[in-house]
Amino acid sequence: MIVGFVKELDEISAAIAACRRCELANTRSKVVPGEGSHRAEVIFIGEAPGREEDAQGRPFVGRAGKLLDRLLAEIGIGRSEVFIGNVLKCRPASSEGKDRKPTEREVSACSHFLDSQIEKIKPKVICTLGDTATQYVLQKYGIKPDGISKIHGRVFKAGNLKIIPLYHPAAALYTYRLERVMREDFKKLKSILY
Ligand code: URA
Repeated sequence: MIVGFVKELDEISAAIAACRRCELANTRSKVVPGEGSHRAEVIFIGEAPGREEDAQGRPFVGRAGKLLDRLLAEIGIGRSEVFIGNVLKCRPASSEGKDRKPTEREVSACSHFLDSQIEKIKPKVICTLGDTATQYVLQKYGIKPDGISKIHGRVFKAGNLKIIPLYHPAAALYTYRLERVMREDFKKLKSILY
């Protein structure tokens, strides 16, 4: 039973690897389907792969990812216990080769993969990292989103599912005080889980 369940998630990853629905298929090095426990109670969702993720095919493996790992470890959660993914599965890069925000077209071409992953994993909690993921997930569940600075750390409910918007860890790399804010929000997550 579990084997069949896992295979279905792997099938989504295979479909992501074959996807050519938007132009990012021409510029990506590797797709980044997401990784972690297929039976995770908590899913973390970021915006899109960056340079390092594009090179390795794994989510949150750059500097922002190291901070995410640290914040998780501080509340006693190992990376392998959760599922970590993104709204976009390929890296959006500017013509100068820098990371850029996803376009609406890219989000609408790609987000059905995230929907399928959520449907298969059936998490109890979704933590959205930053504005792009927060807007997408709250709207998906019919909740009117607000800016991340207003709603970070709040718990939204959609049936049995809890959604917690968090700052994106990359924001805390640029604005140091946000690391402390994120630490407080992660403590709230811990209090919900245990
Ligand atoms: N930023 C994201 O939003 N996702 C990643 O995987 C890495 C950095």
